[in-house]
Amino acid sequence: MRLASAALASAAVLSALVPLFAESPRASRIERRLKKALEESEQRAASGIAEDIDAALMPGTPLASLRRLVRFDQCREDIFFLAGDELAGRDTASEGHLKAAQWAADRFAAAGLKPVGDEGTYFQNWKFGKKKTLNVVAFLPGETDEVVVVGAHLDHVGKGQAGGWSGRIPHPLAGNDVIFNGADDNASGSAAVVEMGCALGGMKTTPKRGILFILFSGEEKGLVGSRYYVEHPIFPLRQTVAMLNFDMVGRNRDHEMDVYGKDGAPELAEALERVNARAGMNLKIPARSPGVFMQSDQYSFHNKGVPSLFFTSGMHTEYHTALDHPDLINIGKIEEIAELGAALALEVANMEGRSTFRKIELGPRLGVQPSAVPAARRQELGLQEGEGGVVLSSVTKGYAAARSGLKAKDVIVAIDGRPLPEENTLDEFRTRIYDAEEQVFTVVRDGKRVEVPVKYGAMEEEKK
Ligand SMILES: [Zn+2]
Repeated sequence: MRLASAALASAAVLSALVPLFAESPRASRIERRLKKALEESEQRAASGIAEDIDAALMPGTPLASLRRLVRFDQCREDIFFLAGDELAGRDTASEGHLKAAQWAADRFAAAGLKPVGDEGTYFQNWKFGKKKTLNVVAFLPGETDEVVVVGAHLDHVGKGQAGGWSGRIPHPLAGNDVIFNGADDNASGSAAVVEMGCALGGMKTTPKRGILFILFSGEEKGLVGSRYYVEHPIFPLRQTVAMLNFDMVGRNRDHEMDVYGKDGAPELAEALERVNARAGMNLKIPARSPGVFMQSDQYSFHNKGVPSLFFTSGMHTEYHTALDHPDLINIGKIEEIAELGAALALEVANMEGRSTFRKIELGPRLGVQPSAVPAARRQELGLQEGEGGVVLSSVTKGYAAARSGLKAKDVIVAIDGRPLPEENTLDEFRTRIYDAEEQVFTVVRDGKRVEVPVKYGAMEEEKK
């Protein structure tokens, strides 16, 4: 295989060079760059191999075509452009954001996607206070009038001092860098959505349902751009069968992605599992979505009853700081999620039925701060092999736990007589309490096991 051998050769040269520079901070910066170059040349090689394997093993399948159309180097170029200092952190209604939006519109136009914005443009204009801003909108028409929405926010928190309401977080190593480049938040998701649009445009296919690609602004201001869209939809929301949102998809472990929203769109999650069976990313899809589901643009659609999934690779120490830089982005992951996202959009666009919708209750169910029992306490709590427990570090007034008499420091070891497992205790605990009405907890309190009946239900208002 051609690409692979060249990458490995350069890897050998690079790794021989590393120790030469291992002294000064300058040296560690060079070392970091060398390691990054090593990682990227391996990813580039891997992407070529994946493309060839798919073309050989499953010719003509959407994923094989998408692997060919989504390019590693193009993804890298996108990230370094969107998160470059020239765009100055792409604050809503800023010059930098406008340049990013024009760049995206030009890419969508070149891929043959239809402009469905105002006056035949790729822009849906709206106002943030007195300032003019816009969402970028591009469309791949379908045979029917139903639509799948694929989105990401393009804006970030701009340039300036950290703190206050700016959304800018100070970083001890930022020095006098005041440009908040937002490489992961959210140049990564924007680049992935642009590549999805260009690849599906390039496939010259007409799916059963149309696919709308949208890059919101105003997300950092409180999901303002996506809320504007659902209040002024270009395609009626009742014909909008799904929304797929990509926000911060470029960091943390290779191939790994968190996906939230399964509990509100079960058939969408099933479609994702089907597509990923071929794509092979390491997806974490919890049965119950955490509170972070409220913190990105899918939530505007979810609140309007549109089945929605949220893709993210999670938090990191550079989040909302001036150090969220492009050279920290896992480019191979952008390429992978763009391929998977495009394949999923196509799968949902051609799916027989539509996904059902369920409102996701994101408020706390119990009103407790749970953590898994540490190994050191197992014996004292009388936990058998394979058994686990959940320690309550706090119990919030007014919620089910407090109303049922649970206390801080209580350790829950069983629910309805069934012990909690030692592995993934918290996940299992969340799954078991997910949609119960009444349960009996076995609790260890002051060394004794007591049964505590728990009745769920909405928070109790404070008696005035
Ligand atoms: Zn974001």
